Amino acid sequence: MATASGETDAEFRARIHDWLATNLSGEFAGLRGAGGPGREHEFFDERVAWERHLAAAGLNCIGWPAENGGGGASIAQQVIFHEEYARAGAPAKVSHLGQELLGPTLISFGSDEQKTRFLPAIRDVRELWCQGYSEPGAGSDLANVSTTARLEGDEWVISGQKVWTSLAHVADWCFVVARTEPGSARHKGLSYLLVPMDQPGVEVRPIVQLTGTSEFNEVFFDGARTAAANVVGEPGQGWRVAMGTLAFERGVATLGQQIGFRRELQTLTDLALDTGAADRPEVADALRRAWTELDVMRAHALRALGSAETGTAEVAKLLWANWHRRLGEIAMTVRGAAGLLADPELDEWQRLYLFTRADTIYGGSNEIQRNIIAERVLGLPREARP
Ligand SMILES: Cc1cc2nc3c(=O)[nH]c(=O)nc-3n(C[C@H](O)[C@H](O)[C@H](O)COP(=O)(O)OP(=O)(O)OC[C@H]3O[C@@H](n4cnc5c(N)ncnc54)[C@H](O)[C@@H]3O)c2cc1C
Repeated sequence: MATASGETDAEFRARIHDWLATNLSGEFAGLRGAGGPGREHEFFDERVAWERHLAAAGLNCIGWPAENGGGGASIAQQVIFHEEYARAGAPAKVSHLGQELLGPTLISFGSDEQKTRFLPAIRDVRELWCQGYSEPGAGSDLANVSTTARLEGDEWVISGQKVWTSLAHVADWCFVVARTEPGSARHKGLSYLLVPMDQPGVEVRPIVQLTGTSEFNEVFFDGARTAAANVVGEPGQGWRVAMGTLAFERGVATLGQQIGFRRELQTLTDLALDTGAADRPEVADALRRAWTELDVMRAHALRALGSAETGTAEVAKLLWANWHRRLGEIAMTVRGAAGLLADPELDEWQRLYLFTRADTIYGGSNEIQRNIIAERVLGLPREARP
Protein backbone atom coordinates (compact mmCIF):
# COMPACT_ATOMS: atom_id res chain seq x y z
CA MET A 1 0.00 0.00 0.00
CA ALA A 2 0.96 3.58 -0.36
CA THR A 3 1.30 4.15 3.34
CA ALA A 4 3.65 1.51 4.65
CA SER A 5 3.85 2.23 8.35
CA GLY A 6 6.93 4.01 9.55
CA GLU A 7 7.86 5.27 6.07
CA THR A 8 9.15 8.86 6.04
CA ASP A 9 7.95 11.27 3.37
CA ALA A 10 11.37 11.08 1.70
CA GLU A 11 11.19 7.26 1.63
CA PHE A 12 7.66 7.45 0.29
CA ARG A 13 8.80 9.82 -2.47
CA ALA A 14 11.67 7.53 -3.40
CA ARG A 15 9.36 4.50 -3.51
CA ILE A 16 6.81 6.25 -5.77
CA HIS A 17 9.57 7.66 -7.98
CA ASP A 18 11.14 4.21 -8.45
CA TRP A 19 7.82 2.48 -8.98
CA LEU A 20 6.84 4.92 -11.73
CA ALA A 21 10.26 4.73 -13.40
CA THR A 22 10.08 0.93 -13.42
CA ASN A 23 6.45 0.61 -14.44
CA LEU A 24 6.14 3.32 -17.09
CA SER A 25 8.00 1.00 -19.40
CA GLY A 26 7.24 -1.88 -21.75
CA GLU A 27 3.59 -1.75 -22.82
CA PHE A 28 3.11 1.52 -20.87
CA ALA A 29 6.23 3.37 -22.13
CA GLY A 30 4.31 5.13 -24.90
CA LEU A 31 1.82 6.64 -22.45
CA ARG A 32 4.15 9.31 -21.06
CA GLY A 33 2.47 12.69 -21.42
CA ALA A 34 -0.71 11.20 -22.97
CA GLY A 35 -4.25 12.38 -22.30
CA GLY A 36 -5.54 15.37 -20.36
CA PRO A 37 -7.76 18.28 -21.35
CA GLY A 38 -8.08 18.54 -25.12
CA ARG A 39 -6.35 15.18 -25.56
CA GLU A 40 -8.62 12.73 -23.73
CA HIS A 41 -8.93 10.63 -26.89
CA GLU A 42 -5.26 9.64 -26.76
CA PHE A 43 -4.51 6.00 -25.87
CA PHE A 44 -7.78 5.63 -24.02
CA ASP A 45 -7.82 1.82 -23.60
CA GLU A 46 -4.14 1.78 -22.74
CA ARG A 47 -4.66 4.44 -20.07
CA VAL A 48 -7.48 2.37 -18.54
CA ALA A 49 -5.06 -0.60 -18.46
CA TRP A 50 -2.40 1.62 -16.84
CA GLU A 51 -4.80 2.76 -14.13
CA ARG A 52 -5.80 -0.84 -13.39
CA HIS A 53 -2.10 -1.57 -13.07
CA LEU A 54 -1.79 1.29 -10.57
CA ALA A 55 -4.80 -0.07 -8.68
CA ALA A 56 -3.27 -3.55 -8.49
CA ALA A 57 -0.21 -1.96 -6.88
CA GLY A 58 -2.39 -0.11 -4.33
CA LEU A 59 -1.61 3.24 -5.93
CA ASN A 60 -5.09 4.41 -6.91
CA CYS A 61 -7.14 6.52 -4.50
CA ILE A 62 -4.26 6.76 -2.07
CA GLY A 63 -5.94 9.66 -0.28
CA TRP A 64 -9.12 7.74 0.56
CA PRO A 65 -9.20 6.42 4.13
CA ALA A 66 -7.99 2.84 4.51
CA GLU A 67 -11.40 1.72 5.86
CA ASN A 68 -12.90 2.80 2.52
CA GLY A 69 -10.38 0.80 0.54
CA GLY A 70 -7.96 3.69 -0.06
CA GLY A 71 -4.31 4.14 0.82
CA GLY A 72 -4.91 6.35 3.87
CA ALA A 73 -2.08 8.62 2.70
CA SER A 74 -1.45 11.89 4.53
CA ILE A 75 -1.93 15.20 2.69
CA ALA A 76 1.87 15.49 2.36
CA GLN A 77 2.08 12.02 0.81
CA GLN A 78 -0.76 12.78 -1.59
CA VAL A 79 1.07 15.92 -2.72
CA ILE A 80 4.26 13.89 -3.15
CA PHE A 81 2.41 11.25 -5.14
CA HIS A 82 0.84 13.80 -7.50
CA GLU A 83 4.18 15.59 -7.92
CA GLU A 84 6.05 12.40 -8.74
CA TYR A 85 3.24 11.24 -11.02
CA ALA A 86 3.42 14.47 -13.02
CA ARG A 87 7.23 14.58 -12.95
CA ALA A 88 7.37 11.07 -14.43
CA GLY A 89 5.08 12.21 -17.24
CA ALA A 90 2.53 9.54 -16.29
CA PRO A 91 -0.65 9.76 -18.37
CA ALA A 92 -3.69 11.82 -17.34
CA LYS A 93 -6.24 9.73 -15.47
CA VAL A 94 -9.41 8.68 -17.27
CA SER A 95 -11.04 7.84 -13.93
CA HIS A 96 -10.38 11.14 -12.17
CA LEU A 97 -14.06 12.13 -11.89
CA GLY A 98 -14.77 8.95 -9.93
CA GLN A 99 -11.55 8.95 -7.95
CA GLU A 100 -11.26 12.64 -7.11
CA LEU A 101 -14.91 13.77 -7.04
CA LEU A 102 -17.49 11.03 -6.53
CA GLY A 103 -15.36 8.78 -4.30
CA PRO A 104 -14.70 11.46 -1.66
CA THR A 105 -18.36 12.53 -1.92
CA LEU A 106 -19.59 9.01 -1.17
CA ILE A 107 -17.09 8.69 1.67
CA SER A 108 -18.50 11.90 3.22
CA PHE A 109 -22.19 11.65 2.38
CA GLY A 110 -22.95 8.13 1.08
CA SER A 111 -24.65 5.21 2.85
CA ASP A 112 -22.67 2.11 3.84
CA GLU A 113 -24.38 0.21 1.00
CA GLN A 114 -23.36 2.87 -1.53
CA LYS A 115 -19.76 2.82 -0.32
CA THR A 116 -19.62 -0.97 -0.56
CA ARG A 117 -21.26 -1.01 -3.99
CA PHE A 118 -19.41 1.82 -5.72
CA LEU A 119 -16.04 2.59 -4.12
CA PRO A 120 -14.16 -0.62 -5.03
CA ALA A 121 -15.28 -0.35 -8.67
CA ILE A 122 -14.01 3.25 -8.83
CA ARG A 123 -10.68 2.38 -7.21
CA ASP A 124 -10.11 -0.66 -9.43
CA VAL A 125 -11.18 1.26 -12.56
CA ARG A 126 -13.99 -1.17 -13.36
CA GLU A 127 -16.55 1.67 -13.62
CA LEU A 128 -16.00 5.17 -15.00
CA TRP A 129 -18.08 8.17 -13.93
CA CYS A 130 -19.16 11.50 -15.36
CA GLN A 131 -20.57 14.62 -13.70
CA GLY A 132 -24.12 15.66 -14.61
CA TYR A 133 -24.41 19.17 -13.16
CA SER A 134 -24.50 21.78 -15.97
CA GLU A 135 -27.58 22.32 -18.12
CA PRO A 136 -28.34 24.79 -20.90
CA GLY A 137 -29.97 27.05 -18.27
CA ALA A 138 -27.76 26.14 -15.30
CA GLY A 139 -24.00 26.60 -15.40
CA SER A 140 -22.57 29.25 -13.11
CA ASP A 141 -26.10 29.43 -11.74
CA LEU A 142 -26.29 25.75 -10.87
CA ALA A 143 -29.30 26.24 -8.58
CA ASN A 144 -31.35 26.76 -11.75
CA VAL A 145 -31.25 23.01 -12.51
CA SER A 146 -34.44 21.90 -14.25
CA THR A 147 -33.79 18.19 -14.87
CA THR A 148 -36.45 16.37 -12.84
CA ALA A 149 -36.64 13.01 -11.13
CA ARG A 150 -39.68 11.43 -9.51
CA LEU A 151 -40.02 8.26 -7.49
CA GLU A 152 -42.02 5.57 -9.28
CA GLY A 153 -42.21 2.41 -7.17
CA ASP A 154 -38.65 1.57 -6.21
CA GLU A 155 -37.03 3.65 -8.95
CA TRP A 156 -36.27 7.28 -9.76
CA VAL A 157 -37.40 8.29 -13.25
CA ILE A 158 -35.28 11.10 -14.68
CA SER A 159 -36.01 13.56 -17.50
CA GLY A 160 -34.07 16.57 -18.71
CA GLN A 161 -30.85 17.64 -20.38
CA LYS A 162 -27.28 18.02 -19.17
CA VAL A 163 -24.51 19.67 -21.17
CA TRP A 164 -20.70 19.85 -21.26
CA THR A 165 -20.65 16.42 -19.59
CA SER A 166 -16.99 15.44 -19.81
CA LEU A 167 -16.31 11.82 -20.73
CA ALA A 168 -20.03 10.88 -20.72
CA HIS A 169 -19.39 8.89 -23.90
CA VAL A 170 -17.13 6.48 -22.01
CA ALA A 171 -18.75 6.63 -18.57
CA ASP A 172 -20.72 3.77 -17.00
CA TRP A 173 -22.41 6.03 -14.42
CA CYS A 174 -23.27 9.68 -13.96
CA PHE A 175 -23.78 11.64 -10.73
CA VAL A 176 -26.76 13.82 -11.54
CA VAL A 177 -28.20 16.85 -9.77
CA ALA A 178 -31.97 16.71 -10.36
CA ARG A 179 -35.06 18.46 -9.02
CA THR A 180 -37.07 15.89 -7.06
CA GLU A 181 -39.60 18.18 -5.39
CA PRO A 182 -42.07 19.57 -7.95
CA GLY A 183 -42.54 23.32 -7.59
CA SER A 184 -39.33 23.76 -5.60
CA ALA A 185 -36.93 26.55 -6.56
CA ARG A 186 -33.22 27.31 -6.46
CA HIS A 187 -31.16 25.07 -4.18
CA LYS A 188 -34.15 23.55 -2.37
CA GLY A 189 -35.74 20.28 -3.53
CA LEU A 190 -32.69 19.00 -5.43
CA SER A 191 -31.31 15.46 -5.07
CA TYR A 192 -27.97 13.90 -5.94
CA LEU A 193 -28.61 10.73 -7.92
CA LEU A 194 -26.34 7.98 -9.21
CA VAL A 195 -27.58 6.99 -12.65
CA PRO A 196 -26.39 4.16 -14.92
CA MET A 197 -25.56 5.43 -18.43
CA ASP A 198 -26.15 2.23 -20.39
CA GLN A 199 -29.94 2.22 -20.66
CA PRO A 200 -32.59 3.23 -23.23
CA GLY A 201 -33.54 6.48 -21.45
CA VAL A 202 -30.04 7.98 -21.79
CA GLU A 203 -28.73 9.50 -25.00
CA VAL A 204 -25.20 10.93 -25.27
CA ARG A 205 -24.42 13.36 -28.09
CA PRO A 206 -20.77 14.41 -28.48
CA ILE A 207 -19.93 18.12 -28.77
CA VAL A 208 -17.12 18.88 -31.22
CA GLN A 209 -14.68 21.33 -29.62
CA LEU A 210 -12.40 23.98 -31.12
CA THR A 211 -9.64 21.38 -30.91
CA GLY A 212 -11.60 19.11 -33.29
CA THR A 213 -11.89 16.46 -30.58
CA SER A 214 -15.00 15.59 -28.56
CA GLU A 215 -14.48 14.97 -24.92
CA PHE A 216 -17.61 16.52 -23.61
CA ASN A 217 -21.20 15.87 -24.52
CA GLU A 218 -24.85 16.69 -24.26
CA VAL A 219 -26.68 14.06 -22.21
CA PHE A 220 -30.44 13.63 -22.62
CA PHE A 221 -32.45 11.80 -19.96
CA ASP A 222 -35.84 10.69 -21.22
CA GLY A 223 -37.44 8.49 -18.59
CA ALA A 224 -34.04 7.14 -17.49
CA ARG A 225 -34.18 5.01 -14.38
CA THR A 226 -32.13 4.34 -11.30
CA ALA A 227 -32.86 2.47 -8.07
CA ALA A 228 -34.52 4.46 -5.27
CA ALA A 229 -31.51 3.71 -3.07
CA ASN A 230 -29.17 5.51 -5.48
CA VAL A 231 -29.69 8.91 -3.90
CA VAL A 232 -26.72 10.31 -1.98
CA GLY A 233 -27.79 12.02 1.24
CA GLU A 234 -31.45 12.77 1.87
CA PRO A 235 -33.81 13.32 -1.09
CA GLY A 236 -34.30 17.09 -1.49
CA GLN A 237 -30.97 17.82 0.25
CA GLY A 238 -28.78 17.34 -2.83
CA TRP A 239 -27.42 20.90 -2.92
CA ARG A 240 -25.25 20.28 0.14
CA VAL A 241 -23.87 17.09 -1.43
CA ALA A 242 -23.31 18.79 -4.80
CA MET A 243 -21.34 21.60 -3.11
CA GLY A 244 -19.34 18.98 -1.20
CA THR A 245 -18.28 17.44 -4.50
CA LEU A 246 -17.15 20.83 -5.86
CA ALA A 247 -14.94 21.35 -2.80
CA PHE A 248 -13.11 18.10 -3.62
CA GLU A 249 -12.47 19.38 -7.16
CA ARG A 250 -9.80 21.71 -5.82
CA GLY A 251 -7.80 19.23 -3.80
CA VAL A 252 -4.21 18.09 -3.77
CA ALA A 253 -4.15 17.22 -7.48
CA THR A 254 -3.52 20.96 -8.07
CA LEU A 255 0.10 20.57 -7.03
CA GLY A 256 0.69 17.73 -9.46
CA GLN A 257 -0.98 19.84 -12.11
CA GLN A 258 1.67 22.50 -11.49
CA ILE A 259 4.50 20.06 -12.09
CA GLY A 260 2.79 19.36 -15.42
CA PHE A 261 2.72 23.13 -16.05
CA ARG A 262 6.43 23.35 -15.24
CA ARG A 263 7.15 20.63 -17.80
CA GLU A 264 5.09 22.42 -20.44
CA LEU A 265 6.86 25.71 -19.74
CA GLN A 266 10.29 24.05 -19.87
CA THR A 267 9.47 22.46 -23.23
CA LEU A 268 8.21 25.78 -24.57
CA THR A 269 11.29 27.61 -23.25
CA ASP A 270 13.54 25.04 -24.98
CA LEU A 271 11.59 25.52 -28.20
CA ALA A 272 11.97 29.30 -27.94
CA LEU A 273 15.72 28.95 -27.36
CA ASP A 274 16.15 26.42 -30.20
CA THR A 275 14.22 28.47 -32.74
CA GLY A 276 15.69 31.83 -31.72
CA ALA A 277 12.23 33.10 -30.71
CA ALA A 278 13.63 33.79 -27.23
CA ASP A 279 15.77 36.56 -28.76
CA ARG A 280 12.60 38.58 -29.26
CA PRO A 281 12.17 40.79 -26.17
CA GLU A 282 8.42 40.18 -25.92
CA VAL A 283 8.96 36.40 -25.89
CA ALA A 284 11.82 36.53 -23.38
CA ASP A 285 9.79 38.80 -21.13
CA ALA A 286 6.68 36.60 -21.33
CA LEU A 287 8.70 33.47 -20.52
CA ARG A 288 10.43 35.14 -17.55
CA ARG A 289 7.09 36.27 -16.18
CA ALA A 290 5.65 32.79 -16.63
CA TRP A 291 8.51 31.20 -14.63
CA THR A 292 8.10 33.74 -11.82
CA GLU A 293 4.33 33.33 -11.71
CA LEU A 294 4.71 29.57 -11.55
CA ASP A 295 6.61 29.97 -8.27
CA VAL A 296 4.01 32.38 -6.92
CA MET A 297 1.31 29.88 -7.85
CA ARG A 298 3.08 27.02 -6.11
CA ALA A 299 3.56 29.06 -2.93
CA HIS A 300 -0.10 29.99 -3.00
CA ALA A 301 -1.28 26.43 -3.67
CA LEU A 302 0.75 25.11 -0.72
CA ARG A 303 -0.77 27.77 1.50
CA ALA A 304 -4.28 27.02 0.20
CA LEU A 305 -3.89 23.29 0.91
CA GLY A 306 -3.80 23.62 4.63
CA SER A 307 -6.24 26.49 4.78
CA ALA A 308 -9.99 26.69 5.13
CA GLU A 309 -9.77 30.47 4.71
CA THR A 310 -12.46 31.79 2.38
CA GLY A 311 -11.06 32.94 -0.92
CA THR A 312 -7.85 30.89 -1.06
CA ALA A 313 -9.36 28.23 -3.35
CA GLU A 314 -10.82 30.93 -5.60
CA VAL A 315 -7.51 32.80 -5.84
CA ALA A 316 -5.74 29.51 -6.65
CA LYS A 317 -8.23 28.79 -9.45
CA LEU A 318 -7.83 32.29 -10.90
CA LEU A 319 -4.04 32.05 -10.78
CA TRP A 320 -3.68 28.69 -12.51
CA ALA A 321 -6.43 29.20 -15.07
CA ASN A 322 -5.09 32.59 -16.20
CA TRP A 323 -1.50 31.37 -16.14
CA HIS A 324 -2.28 28.35 -18.28
CA ARG A 325 -4.36 30.34 -20.74
CA ARG A 326 -1.46 32.78 -21.10
CA LEU A 327 0.92 29.88 -21.66
CA GLY A 328 -1.15 28.93 -24.71
CA GLU A 329 -0.86 32.51 -25.96
CA ILE A 330 2.92 32.59 -25.39
CA ALA A 331 3.19 29.30 -27.30
CA MET A 332 1.49 30.89 -30.30
CA THR A 333 3.90 33.87 -30.12
CA VAL A 334 6.87 31.50 -29.98
CA ARG A 335 5.58 29.51 -32.96
CA GLY A 336 4.96 32.66 -35.00
CA ALA A 337 3.47 32.16 -38.47
CA ALA A 338 3.92 28.37 -38.24
CA GLY A 339 1.39 28.36 -35.41
CA LEU A 340 -1.33 29.46 -37.80
CA LEU A 341 -1.24 26.28 -39.88
CA ALA A 342 -2.71 22.91 -38.92
CA ASP A 343 -0.49 20.58 -40.90
CA PRO A 344 -2.23 18.16 -41.26
CA GLU A 345 -3.58 18.26 -37.71
CA LEU A 346 -3.25 20.62 -34.77
CA ASP A 347 0.06 20.18 -32.98
CA GLU A 348 0.44 20.11 -29.18
CA TRP A 349 0.87 23.91 -28.92
CA GLN A 350 -2.13 24.73 -31.05
CA ARG A 351 -4.21 22.28 -29.05
CA LEU A 352 -2.92 23.82 -25.82
CA TYR A 353 -3.74 27.32 -27.05
CA LEU A 354 -7.28 26.37 -28.06
CA PHE A 355 -8.11 24.21 -25.05
CA THR A 356 -6.76 26.62 -22.45
CA ARG A 357 -9.47 29.08 -23.48
CA ALA A 358 -11.71 26.75 -21.45
CA ASP A 359 -9.52 26.81 -18.32
CA THR A 360 -11.08 30.08 -17.18
CA ILE A 361 -14.60 28.62 -17.54
CA TYR A 362 -14.79 25.13 -16.03
CA GLY A 363 -14.48 24.54 -12.31
CA GLY A 364 -15.98 28.02 -11.82
CA SER A 365 -15.39 30.84 -14.32
CA ASN A 366 -13.09 33.81 -13.64
CA GLU A 367 -16.06 36.10 -13.10
CA ILE A 368 -17.61 33.76 -10.55
CA GLN A 369 -14.32 33.42 -8.63
CA ARG A 370 -13.99 37.19 -8.57
CA ASN A 371 -17.58 37.57 -7.37
CA ILE A 372 -16.88 35.22 -4.47
CA ILE A 373 -13.67 37.02 -3.54
CA ALA A 374 -15.38 40.41 -3.82
CA GLU A 375 -18.38 39.46 -1.70
CA ARG A 376 -17.04 36.99 0.83
CA VAL A 377 -13.46 38.19 1.32
CA LEU A 378 -13.53 41.90 0.53
CA GLY A 379 -17.05 42.45 1.84
CA LEU A 380 -18.20 44.35 -1.25
CA PRO A 381 -21.96 44.63 -1.85
CA ARG A 382 -23.60 41.43 -3.09
CA GLU A 383 -24.88 41.37 -6.63
CA ALA A 384 -28.64 41.21 -7.16
CA ARG A 385 -29.89 37.61 -7.16
CA PRO A 386 -33.21 36.21 -8.40
C1 LIG B 1 -13.78 21.86 -20.62
C2 LIG B 1 -15.05 21.87 -19.84
C3 LIG B 1 -15.46 20.72 -19.20
C4 LIG B 1 -16.66 20.71 -18.47
N1 LIG B 1 -17.08 19.54 -17.88
C5 LIG B 1 -18.24 19.53 -17.21
C6 LIG B 1 -18.74 18.30 -16.65
O1 LIG B 1 -18.12 17.23 -16.76
N2 LIG B 1 -19.93 18.32 -16.01
C7 LIG B 1 -20.65 19.46 -15.85
O2 LIG B 1 -21.71 19.41 -15.22
N3 LIG B 1 -20.24 20.64 -16.40
C8 LIG B 1 -19.05 20.69 -17.07
N4 LIG B 1 -18.61 21.87 -17.63
C9 LIG B 1 -19.47 23.04 -17.56
C10 LIG B 1 -18.96 24.15 -16.65
O3 LIG B 1 -19.17 23.80 -15.32
C11 LIG B 1 -19.71 25.41 -17.07
O4 LIG B 1 -19.27 25.77 -18.37
C12 LIG B 1 -19.47 26.55 -16.12
O5 LIG B 1 -20.06 26.30 -14.88
C13 LIG B 1 -20.05 27.87 -16.70
O6 LIG B 1 -21.39 27.70 -17.01
P1 LIG B 1 -21.97 28.06 -18.46
O7 LIG B 1 -21.10 27.44 -19.48
O8 LIG B 1 -23.41 27.73 -18.46
O9 LIG B 1 -21.79 29.62 -18.61
P2 LIG B 1 -22.68 30.74 -17.95
O10 LIG B 1 -22.91 30.43 -16.52
O11 LIG B 1 -23.88 30.97 -18.82
O12 LIG B 1 -21.72 31.99 -18.05
C14 LIG B 1 -21.49 32.70 -19.27
C15 LIG B 1 -20.56 33.87 -18.95
O13 LIG B 1 -21.23 34.75 -18.02
C16 LIG B 1 -20.44 34.92 -16.85
N5 LIG B 1 -21.31 34.99 -15.67
C17 LIG B 1 -22.29 34.10 -15.32
N6 LIG B 1 -22.86 34.48 -14.16
C18 LIG B 1 -22.24 35.62 -13.77
C19 LIG B 1 -22.38 36.49 -12.65
N7 LIG B 1 -23.29 36.23 -11.71
N8 LIG B 1 -21.56 37.55 -12.57
C20 LIG B 1 -20.62 37.83 -13.54
N9 LIG B 1 -20.46 37.03 -14.63
C21 LIG B 1 -21.25 35.95 -14.74
C22 LIG B 1 -19.55 33.69 -16.79
O14 LIG B 1 -18.38 33.93 -16.05
C23 LIG B 1 -19.28 33.44 -18.27
O15 LIG B 1 -18.23 34.28 -18.71
C24 LIG B 1 -17.43 21.90 -18.38
C25 LIG B 1 -17.00 23.07 -19.02
C26 LIG B 1 -15.83 23.05 -19.76
C27 LIG B 1 -15.41 24.32 -20.44
